[in-house]
Amino acid sequence: MKLGMAYYGAHLPEHLRTDLAALRAMGCDEVLVTLAENDFHIFPGKVRSAPAIGHDLGLRIVANLWGFACAFGGGRVSRLLTDNLDVWQVRRDGTRKGEGCMNHPALRRRAEEMVEECARLGYDAYFWDEPTVQDCYCEHCQARYAAAGGRGDLRRAAAGDLDAFRQASIAAYVADMSAFVKRLDARLETATCVMPTDAAAWEATAAIAALDTFGTDPYWECLGQDMAWVREKTRAAVELSRRYGKRSLMWLQAWRIPAGREREIEEAAQIIAAEGPDALYTWGFRGSEGTNEACEDPAAAWAAVIRAYQALRG
Ligand SMILES: [Zn+2]
Repeated sequence: MKLGMAYYGAHLPEHLRTDLAALRAMGCDEVLVTLAENDFHIFPGKVRSAPAIGHDLGLRIVANLWGFACAFGGGRVSRLLTDNLDVWQVRRDGTRKGEGCMNHPALRRRAEEMVEECARLGYDAYFWDEPTVQDCYCEHCQARYAAAGGRGDLRRAAAGDLDAFRQASIAAYVADMSAFVKRLDARLETATCVMPTDAAAWEATAAIAALDTFGTDPYWECLGQDMAWVREKTRAAVELSRRYGKRSLMWLQAWRIPAGREREIEEAAQIIAAEGPDALYTWGFRGSEGTNEACEDPAAAWAAVIRAYQALRG
């Protein structure tokens, strides 16, 4: 089983090297770098330096278009949305909502541009982070609904038809972006995490031909769940990945863990590993210290992650 880590990054190469070396030393094989839109525009040092430094240390480096268009997992501030109001989702009543529509061609084109830049820089893999159901009724959603055989106006679609269309939109985004990556270079890896709350979209996503890696993030604490639930979601995602011949990647929660509950991180790591995924990643670096999703006691959470990785490495 490969071990990985979500890393928020640094724009100064010397800091990137220090952090990535620490991750290599604690047993990581792979590092997912959170690349926000702002990083491409304002902090390109982080975007540009991570692959070369990571490769020098023997790490695989994964690009995550983090919080892209305020529509996907992660930190959300979007230059695309401020530059292009047309990308905003359209509510049923016709008003606009400040989150990008994943069916909008301009959103997809911007995602492709960032992927193209990353591919030139040598990233090994591309990760579509928590694509989720959107409640958008823009002209592009309407057109896709009609093209998929939907009858009439999307705003008046039956609940079951609407749910199916939303789930199909998740799979369509992952399929189209993954195919784009493979057209750039077939050796590049494509990966996604579809949340347990979007389990209805799991199978259609896992079945995507251009997708190499499928998984989910059983973040028990923020959903008020327990370790039995972590086992159940892990088992289901790993089984589904195997059925479709995909690499499985499971996420371990080390963000927003309340003080005094850090032991659960080690417990969950053991439970996830026992289900035999191909990779286990943790969100995120140093208990997400210094971010708005930090653990209450990031140092204690990070110590628990280090102990968990030591135990998994034997
Ligand atoms: Zn839309």
